[in-house]
Amino acid sequence: MSFIVGIDGPAGSGKGTVTKKVANELGLINIDTGATYRCVALEAINRNVNIDDKEKLIKIAKEIKIDINPTTEGDIIYLNGKDVTKEIRSKEVTKIVSPISSIKEVRYEMVNLQRKLAKGKNVIMEGRDICTYVFPNADVKIYLDASLEERAKRRYMENKEKNIDMTYEEVLENIAKRDENDKAKEMGALKIAEDSVIVDTTNLNIDEVVEKIINIIKEKNCNLNEK
Ligand code: C5P
Repeated sequence: MSFIVGIDGPAGSGKGTVTKKVANELGLINIDTGATYRCVALEAINRNVNIDDKEKLIKIAKEIKIDINPTTEGDIIYLNGKDVTKEIRSKEVTKIVSPISSIKEVRYEMVNLQRKLAKGKNVIMEGRDICTYVFPNADVKIYLDASLEERAKRRYMENKEKNIDMTYEEVLENIAKRDENDKAKEMGALKIAEDSVIVDTTNLNIDEVVEKIINIIKEKNCNLNEK
């Protein structure tokens, strides 16, 4: 039996940071589903495949081997055996990942993998379609949101820490484009599940969001061993 907490929300809503902390507090396995789509994008760059070449992108999604090792410091992502945790956050990958993740057949492959990763485990899984499609029967469903400007500011600061060279304007434009694309997807579009609890993080700090989410999980009477 698995216990699933699904966290959906747009880029920069705080999903990554928050789920890592909640996972550590409650002893859940943290699965970052965006990383799986980023691996397809990275492999497309490595193989010089154009983002319009749908057939080749589908082939990549079928061929690549993605492994996720969840640690208390965050997920370590392996693509064909190589640690690509840092590489998948590059500007180049970030620019092409959303259109690649719009391809239905790519999504089938990644969703299969995400479901397999969660099998028999207690997980907190973050993404765009976790509560609506990957795990529509998740035990706890949360939608994290924040204003576009606040999300761009957060991502810009995060990039700076990771030495990813993007201006605030570039980050804002990229997030706005990804929002638009993520919401318009034919399959796996970013949307709020009817039974999700919405948490607006615009005026909250990370610890406040973490506390809120832990309380939501506890309210569901979940028997989790808090550390
Ligand atoms: O969460 P992150 O920004 O790393 O996700 C990268 C991209 O992957 C998103 O912009 C989105 O297009 C796609 N994605 C998705 N479904 C998910 C997670 C991410 O389509 N469950």
